[in-house]
Amino acid sequence: LVSTGALPEAARVDELVASAHERNRWVADGVVADYIPALAAADPEAFGVCVADVGGSVHAAGDVDVEFSIQSISKAFVYALVCEVVGHREALARVGVNNTGLSFNSVVAIELNDGHPMNPMVNAGAIATTGLVPGDDDADRWAFVADGLAAFAGRELRVDEEVYASEAATNERNQAIARLLASYGRLDADPGRTVDLYTRQCSVLVTTRDLAVMAATLADGGVNPVTGRRVVSAGVARDTLAVLASTGLYERSGEWLYEIGLPGKSGVSGGLVTVAPGKGGIATWSPPLDDAGNSVRGQRATAYLSRALGLNVFASA
Ligand code: GLU
Repeated sequence: LVSTGALPEAARVDELVASAHERNRWVADGVVADYIPALAAADPEAFGVCVADVGGSVHAAGDVDVEFSIQSISKAFVYALVCEVVGHREALARVGVNNTGLSFNSVVAIELNDGHPMNPMVNAGAIATTGLVPGDDDADRWAFVADGLAAFAGRELRVDEEVYASEAATNERNQAIARLLASYGRLDADPGRTVDLYTRQCSVLVTTRDLAVMAATLADGGVNPVTGRRVVSAGVARDTLAVLASTGLYERSGEWLYEIGLPGKSGVSGGLVTVAPGKGGIATWSPPLDDAGNSVRGQRATAYLSRALGLNVFASA
C-alpha cells in the first residue's frame, strides 16, 4: 500500500471521497443564494468533493472541474496574503480574531464593538483586510490579490465578470460597511475602491479541485504541495487556521468545530474548504445553503470525511 503523505493510502482516500459524494448527492435541503443576482443561476444539482494531500496527490469525485466564483472563501486566502505583509500583531489589532455571533454582513456587530471589524471572515473584517492590501494603485493591489490566489491554487485564475458586475451593482450593504469602518477610523484605504477590490476578489473563478489545493497549501505550512512553491510562511498559515477555526463558518463556527473538529471556510456560492493541518485539504462545492450561508451537502460530505479519515484535531485516538 502506497501512502500519499499524511493521509491513508491513495486507494482508501479515493474510495472515501467517492463515498462522501455518493452518500450526499441526493440530499435536497438548502437554498441557492440569490442576494447577488448572478448567483441565483447556479445549478443546485452540481456537487464536487475533492481531497488534496500535503504529499501533492489529489482525490476527486463529481463536478470538481466546474468553475464557480470563490466568494467568501477568498477571505481566508487574502487574509493570509495580507498577514504575510503586515504581520501577526498588526493583523490582530486591525482586523481581530473573535467571532461576532452575528451574520456575515452584520452592521450591528460593528456598532457593538466600537467600530472594530472583529474578524477577517465577516464582511467588515474582510473589507478591512482588503484595505490593507499593499500597492501604489488599483492595478498593483489587484495584482497582489490575483497573483496570491493563483499561487495558492497553482494556476492562473480569472474573474467572472458577470458575477463581479452583478455584485458591484447590488453591494450597497458592503459599501455601507466600508464607510462605517472609515467613520470609526478603522479603514485607511478609500472605502469605495476597497469594496471594489473585495468584490473582484470574491468573483475569482475556482474549481473544487483548486480549492482543495489551496486548502492543502495552508495544511502544508504555506507551501503549495502540487507546485512546491511557498506562498506564505508557516506562521501565517498557522494564524490563518486559528482564525478559521473560530470564525470560518459564519455564526455556525462553534457547531462546525464541535462536529468536524477542523478549521474551514464556506462561501455563498456553495464552496467549502477544510484544512487538516499537516495532512491535507478538503474542498466541496454544492450551491444549496443553510440559513447561515453554508453549503448543506458540503457540510455533510466534510463531516463524513473528517470522521472516516480521522482528522478531528481534538481527537486523541
Ligand atoms: N461577495 C459576497 C459578499 O460580500 C461574499 C459573501 C459570502 O460568500 O459569504 O456579500
